[in-house]
Amino acid sequence: MSEELKGLVACVTGGASGLGAGIVTQLAQEGVTVIAADVQTDKGEAFAETLRKQGLSVYFRHLDVTCEEQWILLVEDLETEFSGLDILVNNAGIIIRKRLSDLSLEEWNRAVSVNLNSVFLGVKHCRNLLARSTSASIVNISSTAGIIAHLDPSYTTSKWGVRGFTKAAALELVQDGIRVNSVHPSMIATPLTEAAPPGHMEANRYAIPMGREAQPEEIAKVVCFLCSRGSSYMTGSEIVVDGGMTTAGVAHMRAQFQEQYN
Ligand code: NAD
Repeated sequence: MSEELKGLVACVTGGASGLGAGIVTQLAQEGVTVIAADVQTDKGEAFAETLRKQGLSVYFRHLDVTCEEQWILLVEDLETEFSGLDILVNNAGIIIRKRLSDLSLEEWNRAVSVNLNSVFLGVKHCRNLLARSTSASIVNISSTAGIIAHLDPSYTTSKWGVRGFTKAAALELVQDGIRVNSVHPSMIATPLTEAAPPGHMEANRYAIPMGREAQPEEIAKVVCFLCSRGSSYMTGSEIVVDGGMTTAGVAHMRAQFQEQYN
């Protein structure tokens, strides 16, 4: 455990599963009191209880990130029960694997609401609490879909939105001493990717020079760095954590293809 994070209070949305659960665990292991907020109440409660039994300070709160009233109640709860907030990780997200021709307006709005509007609501309502912290950090989980295009337009658009909003928020919140950064993973071993159609992960590995997906803790460690005082001069930055995909995915795929025909 480093001294960088010890004693801080964090809220992680989508904290009951996948990457969010990895971030909750990593932060808690660094001595942070973590509130995992999610719509999956039973799973989240059980997860928090398991970590508490290991001596970690983790609590669950029900939160639908698309609901402004629930954010307002959560902030009140954070103030009364935890005396404030130092770290907000906007991690909750969904993917709608549909091309433009099949995508309804309702599905588009749902993806934008969960992936992007939620980040706006979280930052807007947590701002005053975070402004009281002497170590305030917001980390928004985007994707390589916020750097390049993925096949799903609603996901790609919402993740580019998270990247842009992060920079706008960083500029405005600097006056409150709050840093805001985004993280852009490629493929992570989580329920979201496990639910993908057959062949999806195998195909993606061709475009990742490291040839594999990340484990949640490999992304969570980068998130922890951005949450910590160790990144005190970083705001408005984007960190790509993608096994080399956006740098050299095309060249890597071409090399494999050429090898097959040599
Ligand atoms: P996941 O499906 O395993 O977990 C997402 C969590 O968000 C779940 O616990 C779910 O209940 C919660 N959630 C969904 N809608 C919610 C809502 N309205 N309110 C509150 N919570 C809600 O997915 P994951 O892979 O862990 O994804 C986490 C984040 O990482 C997402 O933002 C995703 O876009 C991003 N990401 C994932 C990958 C990947 O390969 N898995 C890659 C890049 C980025």
